[in-house]
Amino acid sequence: MATNSTPTKPFKKQPIDTLIHARWIIPVVPEQRLYENCAVAIHDGKIMALLPSREASSRFDTKDEHHLGNQLLIPGLINTHNHAAMSLLRGFADDQPLMTWLEKHIWPAEKQWVSPEFVGDGTRLAIAEMLRSGTTTFSDQYFFPEATAAAARETGIRAQIAFPVIDFPNAWSRNGDDALEKGLALRDDYRSHPRIGLAFAPHAPYTVGDDTLKKIAIYSGELQMPVQMHLHETAGEVERALSETGERPTQRLHRLGLLSPDMLCVHMTAIDDSDIALLQKTGAHIAHCPRSNLKLASGFTPVAKLLDAGINVAIGTDGAASNNGLDMLLEANTAALLAKAVSGQADALPAHQALAMATIHGARALGIDDITGSIEVGKAADLCAVDLSELEQQPLHDPLSQLIYTANGHHVRNVWVAGKLLLKERRLTTLNEEELQQRAGLWRDRIAGRTN
Ligand SMILES: [Zn+2]
Repeated sequence: MATNSTPTKPFKKQPIDTLIHARWIIPVVPEQRLYENCAVAIHDGKIMALLPSREASSRFDTKDEHHLGNQLLIPGLINTHNHAAMSLLRGFADDQPLMTWLEKHIWPAEKQWVSPEFVGDGTRLAIAEMLRSGTTTFSDQYFFPEATAAAARETGIRAQIAFPVIDFPNAWSRNGDDALEKGLALRDDYRSHPRIGLAFAPHAPYTVGDDTLKKIAIYSGELQMPVQMHLHETAGEVERALSETGERPTQRLHRLGLLSPDMLCVHMTAIDDSDIALLQKTGAHIAHCPRSNLKLASGFTPVAKLLDAGINVAIGTDGAASNNGLDMLLEANTAALLAKAVSGQADALPAHQALAMATIHGARALGIDDITGSIEVGKAADLCAVDLSELEQQPLHDPLSQLIYTANGHHVRNVWVAGKLLLKERRLTTLNEEELQQRAGLWRDRIAGRTN
């Protein structure tokens, strides 16, 4: 029977891989936004929409839908400075100043124990800890970077492998040239890898000479490869450089052509206005590692002053031997508190800025802010969901305040990297927790001399 009504085509929902609904979402970009009852739509590992939950459910069709309840969804955290394998030396030598700690404890232990096996086991342990505390990207500087890269590849985390360049012989390389050759070969192996990038990591001004640094500056420019280096870690380092050469380490790096937007300066505690002016002029970034600096009594980075000068300051944990953990929420909390103490201003480094430092500033510092660091359409779905329902987090006046000043890594419940769920309700999906415990115990016994 004919009718006069026009037949309407049934609306077909768009098939996508994953849909995540959260009570709160802080995308970080744009700044200072808090979305309530919204959802993130993910397809092919990328964020394709951020929209109200109700709209998302009627628009998208997926077999992988998550209702996070009272969890806050933020971009995955970015740890810009780590020595992941050193997690096996956690608690091995505490309460020492930097040079005694390095020369009397860490370097001898590394000489005896560091091997591809040590680095593989230590890095997997560190990746487990990082994922369990919301980190989705880390930059790493350690011997046998092939083993670090393999662990990152297998576990699904995003990584920048900053291979170590040191002029004197060490477990991995004979000298600077040998390190550059091996590191650039590793870069070739990972050239087209979607999650793993390579960078140069000349260790520090006192372990790498001018010739090697000049080569790194040239390669970095030609290959557009980032560089990271421990710099101005203590006042002693700067004083020694001044008395030996008459130059401050930043001046020397500038003379050698290394300060640029590709450079990540790690630590920067003992700095004056001339250093700040150089960073400002060249666009170099800083990896601020507050807990490592505090534990080794290395000094204080004037973060508020650097941010005021428009310098990009990101956050790193440093290795677990000097921290003694890899919890980026705790690190962001410490950065916020310390910036207030150092500047004498309680309004310095507010919570939103601490979160930006732990996410988008980190992505910028590693040269990957087009890929990750915020919840924006087109970026990789690197996400971290933090539970805000625990008793010690009540009452909940402000989710952001709770995130930076109350929560820590133990409150992280779910983590995605490139759309893949790597932490599901606090269980790791690509790592075997029992095996990690067993391997960590084995290394403890070996290092303690109980077995070989
Ligand atoms: Zn370090």
